[in-house]
Amino acid sequence: MEGITGDNKNIPLIYNPNPRARRLSLRLSSKEFAFILTHPPRTTPRQIQSFLRQCGPWIERQVQRIHEPPSLSPGCTFSLHGEDFECVLDRLRCKPILCRNTKTLRLPQNFLQKDLYSLFKKVAHETILPILQEILDVLGQDVTQVSFRDNKTRWGSCSGRKTISLNWRLIFLPPEVARYVCAHEAAHLLHMNHSQDFWKIVSELCPTYRHHKKWLKAHGSTWIRF
Ligand SMILES: [Zn+2]
Repeated sequence: MEGITGDNKNIPLIYNPNPRARRLSLRLSSKEFAFILTHPPRTTPRQIQSFLRQCGPWIERQVQRIHEPPSLSPGCTFSLHGEDFECVLDRLRCKPILCRNTKTLRLPQNFLQKDLYSLFKKVAHETILPILQEILDVLGQDVTQVSFRDNKTRWGSCSGRKTISLNWRLIFLPPEVARYVCAHEAAHLLHMNHSQDFWKIVSELCPTYRHHKKWLKAHGSTWIRF
């Protein structure tokens, strides 16, 4: 597959011939993690090349915006709640483990993805739960249940029965963004809507929330697919 390279990244380019297309258009799909080029079926390669050249500055901006999800193969480094960890191969194990002393994620030669996910869920309990608890204390609110879910579309949710669900992938986000998600869901305990009163509480809990909201909008969909 062809790709567009820039900023040390190579983003796949998917051709999408469409008989109804009158002109060429390019969009970045964060769901597919690719550029989608829609064009009339008879467009020549030369026309495509010249169109892509025209889009150059726009493409550059888009490529810079993309944060790739972590790659968890031996030798790769990834950030876990703001701390760098290195993935290393550990043939002696049958399940992945996280070693905080050596800042490594020790991966067996072959392992089940469910074992890796349950490890990350455990990490989410250890790192994200205390943040949520601290926010609940500030609000003077209690919840009946907090669960960490494997959800590919949402970072968190809050129910009328005072339960909060959080995505365990929050552990991969910058800590202040993860904290914003906790503050957002906790604020729903007081207002089950996105009214001005709701945002007022969020801004008291997290004065820089606008910045984190923007970060999630720009990069969240890439990370949630991981
Ligand atoms: Zn909300």
